Amino acid sequence: EAKTNGKNQWAYFTESLLESAERKNYIHSILRSSITNNEFKILYQPQVDVFTGETVGFEALLRFKNHNIFPDEFIPIAEEKGLIIPIGRMVIKEVFHQLSQWKDQGLEITPIAINFSVKQLNDEGLINYIEELLKEYTIETKYIEVEITENILIDSEGATKFLNSLKALGIKISLDDFGTGYSSLNYLSKFPVAKMKLDRSFIQQYLNVSSQKIMKQLILLAKAYDLEVVAEGVETLEQVKLLQKLNCDYIQGYYFSKPVDTEIVLEIIRKKYDV
Ligand code: C2E
Ligand code: MG
Ligand code: MG
Ligand code: MG
Repeated sequence: EAKTNGKNQWAYFTESLLESAERKNYIHSILRSSITNNEFKILYQPQVDVFTGETVGFEALLRFKNHNIFPDEFIPIAEEKGLIIPIGRMVIKEVFHQLSQWKDQGLEITPIAINFSVKQLNDEGLINYIEELLKEYTIETKYIEVEITENILIDSEGATKFLNSLKALGIKISLDDFGTGYSSLNYLSKFPVAKMKLDRSFIQQYLNVSSQKIMKQLILLAKAYDLEVVAEGVETLEQVKLLQKLNCDYIQGYYFSKPVDTEIVLEIIRKKYDV
């Protein structure tokens, strides 16, 4: 009957809402305890030159030490609960610490890119914090890159101030997940962006003619603005070959390597991938 059916649907609806609220609370508590007990780790994924197979840099990607819960799920919760501010600072510190260790060991290294959330624009002392850490660890800013997504640019004033401060420090800025969001050509000339990361949804649909056309145009667009181009989510040799044809500069994806622990970073820097 309609009535019982309606009641069941309602029960189902509230149940799934409760489940998702419960899941959120669960992740929130894991986030809090991981901050308190320092139970995060950072993995690094190489960005490889499309034509030489050499690794030119890495992206730092956050993980829990003890839970198989991934950033696509926990970062939005950290943002909502304000925890992205301490977490964001922790990631910066950890990467700087790692860079300074490699430097002390006399190792040849590459730049490391750190992801920033739009919510970190609310972290007032963030630029000072970065400046102090740069001094403390004596890191050259050429080893640091910052990845932002287009949604940070919606807060035009805040973003301009933040990005210009980073640029003044000599830190390179990448536009992440490009082509998915609020893309506007305006942004490319207005903000000090040096690199563009083509979102992996394009590469994953690379057999689709329209997706190939978009990739081609986005790469041409980036080049017109003197931006370097990284393709994300590259998993097959066929995709590598296509990106060579489109004159993309760098590739990041499982085809070369998944995100790895710090020891593997050094192995990757020493080798050259076949392209
Ligand atoms: P993102 O910045 O676009 O990072 C790239 C994501 O694509 C990473 O997921 C990476 O593991 C994944 N990936 C790379 N190559 C491939 C591939 O060939 N195939 C597939 N299927 N995936 C690939 P991850 O590490 O799960 O991170 C997801 C997102 O979470 C990141 O997307 C970034 O937006 C955010 N995130 C990660 N770490 C941090 C952080 O420290 N701070 C902030 N604010 N956000 C972070
Ligand atoms: Mg990124
Ligand atoms: Mg991305
Ligand atoms: Mg993303």
